[in-house]
Amino acid sequence: MKVTLKNLTKIFPSRNNKEKKNVVAVADFSFEIPDGKLIGLLGPSGCGKSTTLSLICGLQKPSSGKIFFGEDDVTNLPPENRGVGMVFQNYALYPHLTVKQNITFPLENLRGKDKLTKQEMAEKALEAAKLVQIEELMDRKPSELSGGQQQRVAIARALVKMPRVLLLDEPLSNLDARLRLATREEIRRIQQATGITTIFVTHDQEEAMSISDLIVVMKEGVLQQIGKPQEVYNDPCNLFVAKFLGTPPINVFEGEVKDKKLCIGGAPVMDADLPDALVTVGIRPEGFIVDENGAFEAGLDRVEVMGRDISVIAKHPSCETPLFRAILNGENEVEGERIRFTLKPRKVYIFDKESGCRIEVK
Ligand code: ADP
Ligand code: MG
Repeated sequence: MKVTLKNLTKIFPSRNNKEKKNVVAVADFSFEIPDGKLIGLLGPSGCGKSTTLSLICGLQKPSSGKIFFGEDDVTNLPPENRGVGMVFQNYALYPHLTVKQNITFPLENLRGKDKLTKQEMAEKALEAAKLVQIEELMDRKPSELSGGQQQRVAIARALVKMPRVLLLDEPLSNLDARLRLATREEIRRIQQATGITTIFVTHDQEEAMSISDLIVVMKEGVLQQIGKPQEVYNDPCNLFVAKFLGTPPINVFEGEVKDKKLCIGGAPVMDADLPDALVTVGIRPEGFIVDENGAFEAGLDRVEVMGRDISVIAKHPSCETPLFRAILNGENEVEGERIRFTLKPRKVYIFDKESGCRIEVK
């Protein structure tokens, strides 16, 4: 099911009578989620991710704008008529119910022609349980399950009605690191097995990058960029997106374009056919090449060996942070107090100093 958001806006009125400042949780959001894809909705805490999901599932009404499932305008449909499955940030299972009862719960309230017999409910519950591989656990209570198993029950409960759209709000946040990794693969597998259009909300860029067909990056309620994970990483539209994607993060420097050269700390580090201006420069950690004749000179702080690669931690007076990080092939030998690099032009991004917008070098 294709999902289209058109100029979706949600404004929460201020509770603070003195300030009278409304919160714009989602601002003029427009994008199309293709049928059968997994979308990672990504942004820092408070940027409006959960609000966006609530609007899509119908728990909240937009202040303006429209939501379409396929060609149907669902903006005014109540949640139960939208055909969405949702796993909430705190995926509270009913503690007094068994796994099976938890999964069948959404089916109990079906009325009229949709009403199911006990037998049909049991079959559907088993089908959903099989998808998330918990069919052995049907008679347990949530307290008798691990975090990862509880998570799967919550997903099975969201899947049991075979929703048209599956919404997952930070579904891995309560799991430990290992389980997060395994469960995100699992979510990807389930999504591909069912082909259900899925929106996966997270503040963890690595999580979103690793399993999404498309990522949507948002900041303070405003859509920043949408695209395939690698495309957004390679081609960020602004400094915020560049900083938000990538571990270790991009290194940021003050720079200047002068006489068609990009200069950092006065040294010309790269050709840049642009008008003279003060700029902000982002260099990905993998953008450095050790070169004794390189124009980019830095003070060497230390080297961390990480097996195949080494991480060179260095300092530069124009860097936004006290130290920056270059990731190099482990065959490089790095020592001494100073180090020189040449830069890989495709890993260097130039941004407008005021707006943070990317300035593309032709
Ligand atoms: P995220 O899920 O990205 O962390 P949210 O969608 O929960 O962000 O919140 C976005 C913004 O809207 C925040 O500033 C939050 O404080 C505000 N907000 C969310 N829900 C409400 C509400 N019911 N009333 C008022 N403000 C809200
Ligand atoms: Mg949230």
